[in-house]
Amino acid sequence: MDEMANTSPWEDDKPHEECGVVGIWGSADAAALAALGLHALQHRGQEAAGLVSMEESGIFHSHKGRGLVGDNFGDAAVIAGLPGRAAVGHNRYATTGETALRNVQPLYADFEFGGFAVAHNGNLTNAHTLKRALVRRGCLFQSTTDSEVFVHLIAISLYSTVTDRLIDALKQVQGAYSLVALHNGALLGARDPLGVRPLVIGRLPAGGFVLASETCALDIVGAEFVRDVEPGEIVVIDDAGLRSQKPFAKQPSRFCIFEYIYFARPDSIVEGTPVYDTRKRIGAELARESGVAADVIVPVPDSGVPAAMGYAVEAGLPFELGIIRNHYVGRTFIEPTDQIRHLGVKLKHSANRAIIEGRRVVLVDDSIVRGTTSRKIVEMVRAAGATEVHMRISSPPTTHSCFYGIDTPERSKLLAAKHDVAEMAKIIGADSLAFISLDGLYRALGRPGRDAASPAYCDACFTGDYAIPLLDQQDNAQRPVSLLAAANS
Ligand code: AMP
Repeated sequence: MDEMANTSPWEDDKPHEECGVVGIWGSADAAALAALGLHALQHRGQEAAGLVSMEESGIFHSHKGRGLVGDNFGDAAVIAGLPGRAAVGHNRYATTGETALRNVQPLYADFEFGGFAVAHNGNLTNAHTLKRALVRRGCLFQSTTDSEVFVHLIAISLYSTVTDRLIDALKQVQGAYSLVALHNGALLGARDPLGVRPLVIGRLPAGGFVLASETCALDIVGAEFVRDVEPGEIVVIDDAGLRSQKPFAKQPSRFCIFEYIYFARPDSIVEGTPVYDTRKRIGAELARESGVAADVIVPVPDSGVPAAMGYAVEAGLPFELGIIRNHYVGRTFIEPTDQIRHLGVKLKHSANRAIIEGRRVVLVDDSIVRGTTSRKIVEMVRAAGATEVHMRISSPPTTHSCFYGIDTPERSKLLAAKHDVAEMAKIIGADSLAFISLDGLYRALGRPGRDAASPAYCDACFTGDYAIPLLDQQDNAQRPVSLLAAANS
């Protein structure tokens, strides 16, 4: 079996597209800058990384590999092999056989108009349906990634310009995506009409543009944040500057609320607000909603840290690092049996007894998915001598799977899909358990509460309100178009 097989936290084998993208236009160091951007976006995907660069003559170069950005692009010789003033890159988060190299983005294809490279973050919800139709028309798929759907739709489009062909393709796909694409004329960026997944525009100090999933990728290359690509917008960047096209009817946007809670890096700015500040406000709201008599507030590192800080300030209680995280747990650590896998959290976290012993502890984490982490952490904190352990979660209960690009297990494996909060508290062994309310979360995001008629965010993982139709899910006849994934795994 593939050595990556155990690296997904969820251990199922559906394809996931929880990724980071970057694009550079107009710099002699395009590939190096794109690699740096990918490094800053490493938290969005650790399974594989890829870069495609383009010389002004229209010659493309590509390098892809499994593993971290530094493992693949840390070598100057690799970057030297990616010449040109433009580049696009991608970090991939995927599972099992799906990490086959042929699935690592950006994907590249030769068209009648020249070379074309594309990388996307997100999930298409009609990819299987489109793929079947395309295969029937004679399209030969080389990978199982949704990005290839874009490639074939562009190939068969009857429009003449590349931008129009891309727009033609985007009008046929449904789903949540942010994409970057490169051809011998422009760097393109696009966001889905609801703007579920993020994409930002930056300006390099010496001229030139950056597109990236998050602003932390602009910071690392010294680029100035210009603005978000708007939902449904296509930006075309070339030596004349940046032009915008909006081919979709305007509709209220639904940015992914889980980017705020967990996924985005805390130093990124989302919708004009630092993610770090937002997480602190969520923690403060959580403390107001479900405060409990305690001695110390302890974050579950690293994702629970800002929320725990906000909680502690609001509760007027000390914030202490009562759990220490080991940052050097290798991602390829083999966990061959359930018993060894159970040790996983102990490899990753250990209790700081000096902080915990004899105290009433409030643990703050961002989410409970299957409940594995919480159960082990609570057990560990009790074993270190806590007199009470209260768990506070800075998201509402995760009751539904995400089909828009956040890696979640199937619904039957979500603890909150099967149990109420009291039952969950028992299962994880906590003296009390509370989640922030949906309205409280919206308040922390600066809204009066959740407007059920027109929610400001995609919150399907907490509500089951799927704003983009899940066509592939409804399509019973869906089968993988490729058998190669099975052969590779
Ligand atoms: P679980 O142990 O299954 O309940 O997972 C909860 C833990 O996983 C929390 O500590 C989260 O920080 C983390 N988490 C939540 N969502 C994701 C995700 N999509 N990918 C990886 N980790 C996640």
